[in-house]
Amino acid sequence: MPKIEFVSEGENKLIFKLTEAHPALANAIRRAMKSLVPVLAVDFVDFYVNSSNFYDEMIAHRLAMLPIKTDLERFNMRENCSCGGVGCPNCQISFRLNVEGPKVVYARDFISDDPAIHFAYGDIPVLELFKGQQLMIEAVARLGIGKEHSKFQPVSACFYRIIPGIEINDKCDLCKNCVSACPRDILEEREGKIVAKNLENCSLCRECEKVCEPKAIKVVETNNFFFVVEGTGALPVKEVLSRAIMILKEKAENFNKLLSELDV
Ligand SMILES: [Zn+2]
Repeated sequence: MPKIEFVSEGENKLIFKLTEAHPALANAIRRAMKSLVPVLAVDFVDFYVNSSNFYDEMIAHRLAMLPIKTDLERFNMRENCSCGGVGCPNCQISFRLNVEGPKVVYARDFISDDPAIHFAYGDIPVLELFKGQQLMIEAVARLGIGKEHSKFQPVSACFYRIIPGIEINDKCDLCKNCVSACPRDILEEREGKIVAKNLENCSLCRECEKVCEPKAIKVVETNNFFFVVEGTGALPVKEVLSRAIMILKEKAENFNKLLSELDV
């Protein structure tokens, strides 16, 4: 049975091991975290006044890149909302700004319709206004998924590597060439035997195999994976993982149902 074991947990960074899992499952979890878990992002912007040095499109593009603290219980996906996708407080939220230069506009300067929902990092600079320049805009954010646009990705990095296995047979003459050849310092001699420590650091370079004259050491692939996930600040990374698994389960159940309806 596949198992998840957490190595380190933070609000924005999660490291875990996925063991006894098929490579397809590891990849499905990675892809679901990147492209299926929804978060809020600015989707359109109304410009009332813009006398800054920037085109409207440039400002709108910058706003879309700002991560927004998302509460998934609070918002519906636009297509599933009772408003029919027109836009209402249950599926979108506005951020208003009316400022005059000279001023550097930061993410924190925007006034949200709901104080609990705001840009994740207030100190991101958006643009600089010089004397006499004005910006009056309303930016509207909605839920979306990374598959639709990368601005909706809840993770900025999400990758894994295989945790290999090291097999040493009885031809080993303890020459320790492998110990000194390993660039990641994974092998050591303990009680007359070569053993591996911190296998998750192995890069599969196979230098140990190359220097071992009696061909006693072998690096083998396993069904264990070492995951590193970094969030954008929109959602706690652990929630991204749990939602991704929930979404995959739902998809698998639907698929199973479709198969069971097939008569051959
Ligand atoms: Zn709605």
